[in-house]
Amino acid sequence: MTQNSQKSTCSYCGVGCGILVKKDANDKVMVEGDPDHPVNRGMLCSKGRNLHYVVNDTSDRLLHPQMRWSRSHPLEQVSWDTALDRAAQVFKSVIKQHGPDSVGFYVSGQCLTEEYYIANKLVKGFLGTNNIDTNSRLCMSSAVVGYKKTFGEDSVPIAYADIELADCFLITGANPAWCHPILFRRIEQHKEKKPDVKIIVIDPRRTDSAMYADLHLQLIPGTDIILYNAIGRRLLERGLIDKEFINNHTEGFASYKEQVTKTSLKEAARLCGVPLNDIKKAADLIGLSKAFISMWAMGLNQSVVGTNKNFALLNLSLITGQVGKPGSGPFSLTGQPNAMGGREVGGMANLLAVHKDLMNPEHRREVAQFWGVDEISPKPGYTATEMFEALETGKLKAIWIICTNPAVSLPDLLRVEKALKNARFVVVQDISNKADTLEYADLVLPAAGWLEKEGTMTNSERRISYLPKLVEAPGEARPDVEILCDFAKRMGFKAFNYYNTEEIYQEYCAMTKGTHIDISFLNYDRLKTEGTFQWPVNEYRHPGTARLFEDKKFYTPSQKAIFNIPYTITNRSIMPSESFPLILTTGRVRDQWHTMTKTGKVSRLKTHYPKPVLEINPSDAFVLNIREGYIVEVSSENGSVRVKATLTDNVRKGVVFLPMHWGKKLGQNLNRANNLTQNMVDPQSKEPDFKFTAVRVENY
Ligand code: SF4
Repeated sequence: MTQNSQKSTCSYCGVGCGILVKKDANDKVMVEGDPDHPVNRGMLCSKGRNLHYVVNDTSDRLLHPQMRWSRSHPLEQVSWDTALDRAAQVFKSVIKQHGPDSVGFYVSGQCLTEEYYIANKLVKGFLGTNNIDTNSRLCMSSAVVGYKKTFGEDSVPIAYADIELADCFLITGANPAWCHPILFRRIEQHKEKKPDVKIIVIDPRRTDSAMYADLHLQLIPGTDIILYNAIGRRLLERGLIDKEFINNHTEGFASYKEQVTKTSLKEAARLCGVPLNDIKKAADLIGLSKAFISMWAMGLNQSVVGTNKNFALLNLSLITGQVGKPGSGPFSLTGQPNAMGGREVGGMANLLAVHKDLMNPEHRREVAQFWGVDEISPKPGYTATEMFEALETGKLKAIWIICTNPAVSLPDLLRVEKALKNARFVVVQDISNKADTLEYADLVLPAAGWLEKEGTMTNSERRISYLPKLVEAPGEARPDVEILCDFAKRMGFKAFNYYNTEEIYQEYCAMTKGTHIDISFLNYDRLKTEGTFQWPVNEYRHPGTARLFEDKKFYTPSQKAIFNIPYTITNRSIMPSESFPLILTTGRVRDQWHTMTKTGKVSRLKTHYPKPVLEINPSDAFVLNIREGYIVEVSSENGSVRVKATLTDNVRKGVVFLPMHWGKKLGQNLNRANNLTQNMVDPQSKEPDFKFTAVRVENY
């Protein structure tokens, strides 16, 4: 498919695979992997291979703006003028009556960087509130805190090219075989070529990734910090540490040593529920390797102690000196295609663009000056879950939801539904009429989807790619930047008169100048003609930067990496009790994406895991008199779901697993995993505790 094909990037996970797009004689889109792309070298996973169905099938698309004057009225089709005038009128009136902090925007890691940038500029610069947060808060905000506190900035130090240079991988709290398949394929290919390469997986479930590993530590959920510290202790005891790196390039080692030596290996093995020898073996594989990579995702981040888990894991890279070297480094895998781009433009309630800090007055002044506004509010905005709490209490009156479906993806959904019902004004800007959140919308704005607009994205390894517009959006759907700029102008803000998307990109690039994420020498022309680039790209003809910190100079004031000491080694979730004796952990399945508004409409993607089922260990099932295929009711303090049970020792005794994708519209009414999950968050990252909920399971 090389003739007449155009290059783009997959719109699903943070791996960021290159795609070739071509149209057939009937103008239908066809896709295949780009053989020249540095990430996937022609490979695509099942989701990527079926992206054309999502584009070609417009039967579920939102085609026209819709509005209702009150919740008792149905939504009616209106013109764009009517829709955006109404939005501006309501936002002006709410802000006048209740102040700027009474409105908020909830955006997405699937937004393109230009969209993210404009939404942030609008909210933080012009509406005068920091109430803008993203669904990336639910995925990787704990990793952001981990990187910032360890290296001085939210900077992923590593590249995919390091995979082929590593000889030991520690994959923890992630199932890349299903959730980052092409990345995992590269690890598999590397091991096929070099069988001595070792893979360790730490996960309470025996996932496909764990089955492929040389060593699987099937820990009790929530005991990760104890386990990483135990590995650290063993490395210290065996002298498998890099003293030169620790002495010259880090701070805080003494406190680290003190913490990890407090718990014996034997005690750690007992607390984590793993064999002592496996802890020793994991430590020895890491310590004796020349190049060691750790990889993690939601299993660590989505925890009430998520930042502490990140600290404990990052510390293993520091004691072994495995940072800024070929084939080594700590690698947080982003779940969404542009979670990283969102981080760059400050797409969270506590961040500012170009990695500047909201709590730093000088940074606020610089950003305000760049945007030509008097000031940026010093008050941190509501984070994802806080925003919905504020809707529930009435502190937040109006919310604008872009490219995300919180009525399925947030924790404690019965409460989220109450909050949305309580809101005075809900705007939903989306591509799909299947988004469950539409039920609560007062205003619906149809957005253009993948291939229907241009812009850029950044994948997990800091690689920026340009996505061209290749097809027309159906009906009256418009690109998100266009909708936001149109709204901003109706609010009276003159700084949103852009000629095109490229101008927005250039403005953002100018803002990066002189920072650690400088891309001032990366314009659309280079991206279109030369391909993708890893930031920083800070000089004329700069080729991009594969690996950070090769000079061992970190972005902290002392230029040293910091050992951060977890304030607790134990979990702080609500523990199992007599009423709720099992631990529920949630996650993704191989062929579905988030709340299934896209993958859910591709029949062939439903065959692998057609319906949500509760995975339960046979010994727990025996005690509860549950057999294969029985319908069970799972209850937590928050709600309940009814699903079929499947008996498998892939989950350890005492643990059950339920996938998170299914919502009301696309599944049965009562199988949403997030009816059960707790609205508890990590105190530093504000990331929810999706991976640990005390539940009861009964025959229904
Ligand atoms: Fe798309 Fe991720 Fe699959 Fe690559 S691995 S094709 S980016 S879903």
